Amino acid sequence: MTDYVIAPPAIVSVPVVGGGAFPVRRVFCVGRNYAEHAREMGGDPNREPPFFFMKPADALLTGNADMPYPPASEDMHHEMEMVVAIGTGGVDIAEEDALKHVWGYAVGLDMTRRDVQNVARKAGRPWDMGKGFDHSAPISGIVPASKIGHPDKGLIELKVNGTVRQSSDLSKMIWNIPETIAYLSRLVRLAPGDLIYTGTPEGVAAVVRGDVMEGIVEGVGSIRTKIV
Ligand code: MN
Repeated sequence: MTDYVIAPPAIVSVPVVGGGAFPVRRVFCVGRNYAEHAREMGGDPNREPPFFFMKPADALLTGNADMPYPPASEDMHHEMEMVVAIGTGGVDIAEEDALKHVWGYAVGLDMTRRDVQNVARKAGRPWDMGKGFDHSAPISGIVPASKIGHPDKGLIELKVNGTVRQSSDLSKMIWNIPETIAYLSRLVRLAPGDLIYTGTPEGVAAVVRGDVMEGIVEGVGSIRTKIV
């Protein structure tokens, strides 16, 4: 047995709908993967190569738990996304093989300290402190692909306090799931337990303490989180 000099951190996991837990290794996120969101962020909605950023695994927030409003921000935005859970790793994965590497899907929120991110963007600095803060990744239970298949179309929607803020369709992703997996696997060796937040449609906006976010991805599931 390894003689750890401090207590080792717990393995982060996400509940699986129907039972069990999915152990998480890394959390990757795709930037600007819907054209209308790319436009609202002042970017190019054309098909530039996808880009990625990361959140720490322990930023995940499960079980529809309340989300504490983070420090160092006065402009925290919601980004409603579908999440892919990788079951089988690999490098240089071909698009036609990519879906075989997917264990399941979830509904997630890529919560963003937009003010912090914008300072970093303007200065050409990393996004980590805008994106990877504590509790910044609420996620629903994971549903196995063996139960629901591989959704490539369907409603993706977020309501805040009952009002629709984001509403689009999975088919509007600039880079679809197989393309995203293939591309990311050329940058890193994907591993079992990796999650990929696949980008958000237009309509991102601020939330404040007391707001209740309720999101759905048709055919995948739903999430509900209150900001406290
Ligand atoms: Mn995002």
